[in-house]
Amino acid sequence: MFGRQCEKRLWLAVRRPELTEYDDATQRRFAAGDSVNDVARALHSGGRLIGFENGVEGAIADTQKALAADPAAPVFEATFAHEGVVVRVDILKKGKRGYRLIEVKSSTKVKPQYSPDCAVQAWVLEENGVNVEKVELAHINKKFVYGGGGNYRGLLTYADVTKEIAAEKAEAPQWARRFQKMLEGAQPDIGVGAHCHDPYECPFLAHCIAESGAVAAEYPVECLPGRKTEILEEFAEEGIADIRDIPAGRLQNAKQEWVREVTKRGKADVKPGARSAMDEYEWPRYYLDFETARFAVPVWKGTRPYEALPFQWSCHIETEDGAVTHEEFLGDGAAPMRAFIDSLLRALGTRGTVFMISHYERTILTATAKRFPDLAAEINKVIARLEDLQKIAKEHYYHPDMFGSWSMKVVAPCIAPHLAYDNLGEVQEGDAAGVAYLEMISDGVDPARAKKLKEDLLAYCRRDTEAMVELARVLAGK
Ligand code: SF4
Repeated sequence: MFGRQCEKRLWLAVRRPELTEYDDATQRRFAAGDSVNDVARALHSGGRLIGFENGVEGAIADTQKALAADPAAPVFEATFAHEGVVVRVDILKKGKRGYRLIEVKSSTKVKPQYSPDCAVQAWVLEENGVNVEKVELAHINKKFVYGGGGNYRGLLTYADVTKEIAAEKAEAPQWARRFQKMLEGAQPDIGVGAHCHDPYECPFLAHCIAESGAVAAEYPVECLPGRKTEILEEFAEEGIADIRDIPAGRLQNAKQEWVREVTKRGKADVKPGARSAMDEYEWPRYYLDFETARFAVPVWKGTRPYEALPFQWSCHIETEDGAVTHEEFLGDGAAPMRAFIDSLLRALGTRGTVFMISHYERTILTATAKRFPDLAAEINKVIARLEDLQKIAKEHYYHPDMFGSWSMKVVAPCIAPHLAYDNLGEVQEGDAAGVAYLEMISDGVDPARAKKLKEDLLAYCRRDTEAMVELARVLAGK
């Protein structure tokens, strides 16, 4: 599959595996995949897992033994080889006329990049004399609601892709031979490009960029906001890599032109209308941020796969005289959603503007109103008070070091260096917060570790809302 993305990726994976650098998001995707695989195995009971302790030959021999001992029992990680290509099948299960080859994925739908993987497995199995009756992709059923008690029946949906992969199965032998020949030679001469991110982030990107010797522009033209594909192609042809080198008049998009001017000037710009825009909002003003956790395999009763489940909020409250107070909530156990919303409604009172950043808080509150119908009326009154601070900032504030982004994590250090996120503990972004929360409430966690995670979570969420207060002040000219 690496070779299908980029032959150099496959060459590096085989010949220079020590250069692999997976980012945090990819590692979280792997962890989600593991949890889904565990459930898939539990759903196909009576199966045997083929280990890899004795290498490829041992795994192949164990697979044959398992199939001979009980042909009706599912085999997990069934291992086969043909022409030097080794495959491990997530689930191999007896069907009516032959075997079902089941590939398990943690996504919620079938994606085109899964086909070659299934095709190669089917080819190798058929060359080993296995009658593959059906090739299936087991993926997450988004509508599944966890009823508790470890019952995950219905979590997976099975898509029959036998016909879809037929053409690629026929091509699989050619891919295998081409890649094997390539692997015997020197490292392929392939430069970085769009293929490094599609369909997956390549873990050799840092190596390939360093190897190319390319010096990145200080303010890359790729950072221009909004639609830019065509203009970037023109800039690439003309050798314009830095926003500051774009000639005046080339950008037709007003926001892009603003970004160009401010970047060239080298200092922040607050547009004249910012102050009057901020004057419109009622006091007191609440600056609100949530943290949520998502699980591929739901762990709390009544929740769905990948549902964003709020466990923490931070809120700075500012009165018209400039006084600022802070309130916060962090769950301390499983299913903290009710305690989350009860505490939040108390903190927000009944009047005043509630600033949030992006639509996320609105989405979470809307979902929470559905989850707790007894609180829906109260929650809807809060939703009616929400105002998007990021939208106001996008129209009125830009600093060259925002690099075309109005994300709070980028804006905050531009307003004041002490608001940077890289001086926080191990929680410095939203997905890491969800992971930290799960660890903090897990059974058997070391108390000192739980205390540290709690401090880091509180500091992270608080940083978001204190940065919002500062942003509002900059916009209001204070
Ligand atoms: S970073 Fe890009 S060029 Fe380098 S191996 Fe990966 S996909 Fe290929």
